Amino acid sequence: MASKKPTGAEIRKTFLDFFEEHGHTFVASASLVPGGDQTLLFTNAGMVQFKDVFLGTDKRPYKRATDSQKCMRVAGKHNDLEDVGRDSIHHTFFEMLGNWSFGDYYKKEAITWAWQLLTDVWGLPKENIWSTVFRDDKGNIPQDDEAAEAWRGQPGMNPAHVLYFGRKDNFWEMAETGPCGPCSEIHLDRGLKYCDKQGVPGHICQVNGDCQRFLELWNLVFIQYNRLSPTELEPLPAKHVDTGMGFERIVSVLQDVDSNYRTDLLWPLILTTQKLAGYSDEQREANFTPFRVIADHARAAAFLIADGVVPGNLGRNYVTRMIIRRAYRFGGKIGLCEPFLAKVAEVVINHYGDFYPELKRNRKSINISITREEEQFQRTLDRATTQLEDLLNKLGKSRQTILPGDQAADLYTTYGMPFEITRDIARERGFDVDETGFNQAMEEHRLASGAGKAMGDLGGEEVEIYRQVVMDLQSQGSLSEIGVVYDPYSRLDVSGKLLSMVRDGHPIQMANPGDELEVILPETCFYVESGGQVSDTGTIRDVGDTWEIEVKDMRKPAAGVIVHVGNVISGKPQVGDEAIASVDTQRRRDIMRNHTATHLLHAVLRKVLGDHARQAGSLVAPDRLRFDFTHPEAVTPPQLTQIEAGVNQHILGDYQLKITYKPLEQAIAEGAMALFGEKYTETVRTITIGGDKPFSYELCGGTHVNETGDIGICLLTSEGSVAAGIRRIEAVTGRKAYEIIRSRFAKSAQAASLVGSTPDNLPEKIVSVLDELNSLRKQVSALRQNQVAAEFVLKLQETRMVDGVRVIATRLSDADMDTLRQMADRFRQQYPTHSVAVLGSVKDGRPSIIAAVTEDLIARGLNAVELVKFVAAPLGGAGGGRPTLAQAGGKDASQLEMALGKVEAWVKENIHP
Ligand SMILES: [Zn+2]
Ligand SMILES: [Zn+2]
Repeated sequence: MASKKPTGAEIRKTFLDFFEEHGHTFVASASLVPGGDQTLLFTNAGMVQFKDVFLGTDKRPYKRATDSQKCMRVAGKHNDLEDVGRDSIHHTFFEMLGNWSFGDYYKKEAITWAWQLLTDVWGLPKENIWSTVFRDDKGNIPQDDEAAEAWRGQPGMNPAHVLYFGRKDNFWEMAETGPCGPCSEIHLDRGLKYCDKQGVPGHICQVNGDCQRFLELWNLVFIQYNRLSPTELEPLPAKHVDTGMGFERIVSVLQDVDSNYRTDLLWPLILTTQKLAGYSDEQREANFTPFRVIADHARAAAFLIADGVVPGNLGRNYVTRMIIRRAYRFGGKIGLCEPFLAKVAEVVINHYGDFYPELKRNRKSINISITREEEQFQRTLDRATTQLEDLLNKLGKSRQTILPGDQAADLYTTYGMPFEITRDIARERGFDVDETGFNQAMEEHRLASGAGKAMGDLGGEEVEIYRQVVMDLQSQGSLSEIGVVYDPYSRLDVSGKLLSMVRDGHPIQMANPGDELEVILPETCFYVESGGQVSDTGTIRDVGDTWEIEVKDMRKPAAGVIVHVGNVISGKPQVGDEAIASVDTQRRRDIMRNHTATHLLHAVLRKVLGDHARQAGSLVAPDRLRFDFTHPEAVTPPQLTQIEAGVNQHILGDYQLKITYKPLEQAIAEGAMALFGEKYTETVRTITIGGDKPFSYELCGGTHVNETGDIGICLLTSEGSVAAGIRRIEAVTGRKAYEIIRSRFAKSAQAASLVGSTPDNLPEKIVSVLDELNSLRKQVSALRQNQVAAEFVLKLQETRMVDGVRVIATRLSDADMDTLRQMADRFRQQYPTHSVAVLGSVKDGRPSIIAAVTEDLIARGLNAVELVKFVAAPLGGAGGGRPTLAQAGGKDASQLEMALGKVEAWVKENIHP
């Protein structure tokens, strides 16, 4: 290229600007954690945040959008991890540029703009561009002549460069059923020098071929069908465009380099790593794989942590842990033996932070999380590697090639060695690892994670029913264009016509007592579960009070549709009846107190623990609130006291809550806290607390009290761990807190009266009672010893002489080991020579045995250790000690008498003359 090469940031901006100039709205990248989608580990394509629009369950204020989406492909169907580092094009984290039409423009515009951007704006040679369009290899779906025509009509496009391909390459489906359609790919011929198969017999360079010469740049998807079954497609009323362009790839083309890693997106990371390792350029090139892995993983880790995914043991958190550890191990291959990855991640933050400000905001926690994870792994890596080497050597000796899964699982549970690293090492040595066996073994270790209820999986059918219901209502004019009006904020009851009832998936006109049903009203003030706050409950009744429906839950089954879920308590509700819906006010007030308290708690937590403590989930219910947050260790009792005091101080401050609506970008730029894994619209509702000096500023659609004083009081009830790096605090407010205080008061009064004290003096009183109890225990124990001693004196008369040796083997009642030892000492004092004693006793069901042999008998072959073992063996016990005195425990007390009975014979057998 003659002119100066554009930077990656410039290329991204050119793409977005181009589409903004063509009427597209810029939409910020969604989080790597898919909002409201538990089925997906990570956002793995641009369409994830628009999926609901295509499915018809959500609407947006714009019809054209453009974005650069953060994506991770490291698990599930799209798993590129194994290729990362080995070649120049695979990544775990990458960006996807896209332009979108939601029922607006279609193929012609999409293709024309793609052509203009590539050739006019970016100046790619027209003769090197090829495109593919759909022709069904099964002959069922019409071929995409519309797209082919549009391509051939582009000025300078060689018509021979428009090729047809079948379903595998050119038909896109979201899932087994649902939106789908043909796609059109744009490929670039980079010239013969990029062919890596030259000289291979029979090789031909071609589009969708097997060499690197033709590069797929961009995929334009035209969503025009809804798939009903494997053989049935129906045309969609509104057609959409979804495009995806691999950002790293287009940058490599425009910067004219042969690897994504040599673009200015990743090269600075490689140079930083090189500097840290002290490598020369030649050394770097000779050993490039570690550099690629480190650059890729450092970038991914920084973005993951910025989105709240800290290293941990499960799911997403495991992925962050695994890539940091993997990068650390690859660092070892180029001589980096100390934690270093945070220094590389720092370069990511500096290079990407302008476009992705979440990186800058979380600079500290990225640094801390990465370094701590490396330090933790550093402690065990050597031992884990040695252990693995041993296992592989053993396998090799027995001529096996696959490491069993349970052994790989042991390496993880014992040393924290991620499966992926075990596999890396195994493969480097020519072995493989049984992944299925590993997963099975891990399943047994895995904590029941309680990862939320199964995804509310809305079948396409159900969405259809509601869409039909809503369309009918809208055509009758009884429902507004946007659907059910939703306002849970300004009142607690609302009246209107009962528009529709659905029972067992079918619309009905009239319902009977006991029916479970779903009810649609023109508007509702019932809150629908979101952002951790549970749905409202309440009642719907008719104006004349002839029937009543109890509302137990709320749902949003399709775009614009909100249903009240409940059952008929009395009467026969009929479509068309004038109805009044009332939220259960007391319950709602409890919820509002808890929700506002959650915001206070969040703010105070960050103040006490630090900014790394970020919300990782919450539950706002009527009887309690639960708040999960990232923090590496247990919150100490003094910290908890401080946090609780802080929250209550804010409550007593009686601050008025300020609620405003503003553009998402503005709120984020102002520092509003966004919730992890939550999906936001362009205009967001924000809650500010703290008057002139706000201490809490969050994006939140929940319902809140007017002033913090309304909360009454907040008590923390528990603190614990949810997963590695994630803590949970539970708390209560208002009525529930009062209930707990009341009940604790009553109990302390009761406890005080039981010990004859007052609640205020209770601790001192308990200390004195315990002291008394202790001294009584000592007295009892002393008395008991005296009693045993008396018993022992009597038993001493049972001593027998065996070959001139005095032998006593007897059971004393209810004595502990200490007492037995004292008795044995007493025996040895009384009979310092020629004597053997074995004393046994059973206390609390457990047998104890002590054996004593006088010094002089050791020369004659007797030994207390052997003797006590002999006696304990039939009791299932073992023991030890010195040759003169040894002790043992056991399990089976019933064998004690029998075992003691054999002591005489043992002495006879073992003694030398
Ligand atoms: Zn080739
Ligand atoms: Zn909130």
